[in-house]
Amino acid sequence: MRLTTPTAPTAATAAGPLRVLYVCAEVFPWLKTGGLADVSAALPPALSALGADVRLLMPAFSAIAAGVEPQGPIIHLPAGGTHGLPHGLGPQAHTASGTAPGLQAGRLKDTGQPVWLLHAPGLYQQGLNPYQDDHGHPWANSAERFGWLGWAAALLGSGLVPGAGWSADVVHGHDWHTGLAFGYLHALRHKGLSQATTVFTIHNLAYQGVFGAGVRAGLGLPDSLFHMQGLEYHGNVSFMKAGLVYADHITTVSPTYAHEITTPEQGFGLDGVLRQRRGRLHGILNGVDSSVWNPAADPLVQPGFDAEHLEGKALAKTALQDRMGLAPRPDALLCTVVSRLTGQKGLHLVAQVADELVARGGQLAVLGAGEPGIEQALRDAQHRHPGQVALHVGYDEPLAHTLVAGADVILVPSHFEPCGLTQLYGLRYGTLPLVRAVGGLADTVTDSSLENLDDGSASGFVFTSFDAKGLHTALRRAFALYRRPADWRTVQRHAMGLRFDWDRAAQAYLHVYRMAQTDRQHSGTPHA
Ligand code: ADP
Repeated sequence: MRLTTPTAPTAATAAGPLRVLYVCAEVFPWLKTGGLADVSAALPPALSALGADVRLLMPAFSAIAAGVEPQGPIIHLPAGGTHGLPHGLGPQAHTASGTAPGLQAGRLKDTGQPVWLLHAPGLYQQGLNPYQDDHGHPWANSAERFGWLGWAAALLGSGLVPGAGWSADVVHGHDWHTGLAFGYLHALRHKGLSQATTVFTIHNLAYQGVFGAGVRAGLGLPDSLFHMQGLEYHGNVSFMKAGLVYADHITTVSPTYAHEITTPEQGFGLDGVLRQRRGRLHGILNGVDSSVWNPAADPLVQPGFDAEHLEGKALAKTALQDRMGLAPRPDALLCTVVSRLTGQKGLHLVAQVADELVARGGQLAVLGAGEPGIEQALRDAQHRHPGQVALHVGYDEPLAHTLVAGADVILVPSHFEPCGLTQLYGLRYGTLPLVRAVGGLADTVTDSSLENLDDGSASGFVFTSFDAKGLHTALRRAFALYRRPADWRTVQRHAMGLRFDWDRAAQAYLHVYRMAQTDRQHSGTPHA
């Protein structure tokens, strides 16, 4: 499952550039709930730099629409039974609120990246979060929201949107929100209506988009897809399973997670499906977008710093302590967390070790929002240790930079972690990651054990057992190393020199696209 790219592939052939439809629900800086937005901002330009013609397809959520310069009229999407499409395939011609969805070409205002916006008045305008209402409940129309996204991807990718003037060689969808695209594409392919090759990327298997079987009629899902080997999941419709079953190839965001999700412990009920598809499942690590996360040129961290000039990092620490109301103690081991506060992230463990961390002379600065129980546990720790523990509840991009730049250690004690980005940002900023050895954390951080210090490979602190004792042991190692400033500097310098860049990842994705195309040519049209 580890992916090697023997020769650097390019995305241009005699037939012209490889056309990639990149389908997703969020993109930084316009709409972000997690790492997917960072990936969607960085991977398409990296693929374009290798010669691909990449177009994003996203719902016209208000925040996304605000970030797009429209470049043409809205073209209405055909429904089943029109334009030669089979009857009963795809959603009705109108959404439940009675409007006909359409596509509009445009470009992202900041990068100029080409985008197709999916307009459907009444479907995408509610609230700020694309998945949940203000009370944290999934939107009641989630199946319709993302069913239409899948249908639009399938039609556009197959060149079946009259007037669009574009079709894709590869449809590349991200997470469950795009899963139905692969079901529709499978059905269109079976009718001889689609040539597109398909790739589906799992950013987090925990979120699957499972809906009652009653949604099938409104979404125009053919019965031929609704069975155990298809998108049916215990009598329900699973968008995630549609992607896993029907995409030509599947990727996820680290080699270790690609293995973990084939096991019952981490498979979230889909490990059997993933084991069946193991030969077409690849792990490709995410990268760091150095136009956003670079300590030497970060407008949110002034003055900047690099591995050879760390004076700016000391100033960043003072700024962090000041901003978060922590005591101005330059010598305290300052630990930080920048995260969604969910069970996945293991942050209840951080609350449990907070007393010990402070007793050892450390400080803790947390930025995050999420589950009330975790928020409360961290707030309690803050009240017990004023000036030494600080919590900021909310989502705050500039503050995230302040914390990553100014801290000594970034804590990521996740229960599971597909890739994880904040540990990569920590490495880049000389903020040593303290992580649990799962998923992408295991693939990117090397423990400061004696032998790793000895051979120069140490870049942080790693523990395995998912409990306070495991975290505490790793913290003790961090305190021990911090008392040896020369060794700390050596590890810091090594960490800051590591590169997880998007060019490498984009080459690996191109390699998967090529493999998927080759497999398709050899296998022909599959049976529905
Ligand atoms: P996930 O996608 O599971 O949330 P990742 O580590 O892959 O985790 O990506 C999280 C992204 O969201 C990072 O860019 C991180 O800096 C950012 N982030 C998380 N929580 C916050 C927050 N409260 N404020 C600002 N940025 C945040």
